Amino acid sequence: MTQTFREFGISENLLKSLEEIGYQAPTEVQAKVIPKVLSGQDLIVISKTGSGKTGAFGIPMLEKLNHDLSGPKALILTPTRELAVQVDQDLKSMSKYKPIKTTVLYGGHSMVQEIEKLEKGVEIVTGTPGRVFDHITQGNLKTGSIEYLVLDEADRMLDMGFIDQVKRIIKKIPSKRVTMLFSATMPSEIQYLCKSYMNSPDTIEIESDT
Ligand code: ADP
Ligand code: MG
Repeated sequence: MTQTFREFGISENLLKSLEEIGYQAPTEVQAKVIPKVLSGQDLIVISKTGSGKTGAFGIPMLEKLNHDLSGPKALILTPTRELAVQVDQDLKSMSKYKPIKTTVLYGGHSMVQEIEKLEKGVEIVTGTPGRVFDHITQGNLKTGSIEYLVLDEADRMLDMGFIDQVKRIIKKIPSKRVTMLFSATMPSEIQYLCKSYMNSPDTIEIESDT
């Protein structure tokens, strides 16, 4: 049974951009994750690279969020600048016909340019933990209106030594939020992170042979 994005209640403006970028039907992880995010459920998603995880969190967030520059509404943490840039580009393509502003923050990028973007106002911020934490402590990134927190490639963030920084960031985000953690594997530190910082999460595991 092939499902469609339309069946999940995705709006025309997003359907149009998804069609343009060649997302004709949801991947398995998208089909399982999108309805849960739309209903506000915290999620742990175990799924391999290339399975379509950016759309799994990006599409429902873009559906729920509206243009409102009063402060960022979503924060996505990724282990590397390349991934952060990719996620931000994917979100921009998916929201081509919806007035949502996104920006990306990562070490090695111009602080001044990043601050300018944040000051103009954005709804979705994607970044690497070190740089995101710097912007939070400097007061450039206001966390008080964040409603969605995504930890993308959580196992790689752990491997790269970002876990304490991730925890420090989470503590600055309002506890009334939707938290989603994506990982290819579930080391015990990640399980502990989920227990401590998520609200009765559902676990979705996608078999890796698909
Ligand atoms: P992951 O984060 O799981 O590694 P990505 O979200 O980066 O996966 O997606 C992997 C590739 O699949 C990308 O090239 C993306 O554009 C493509 N893709 C994602 N969702 C769909 C879809 N529904 N239909 C077609 N291609 C898709
Ligand atoms: Mg990914």
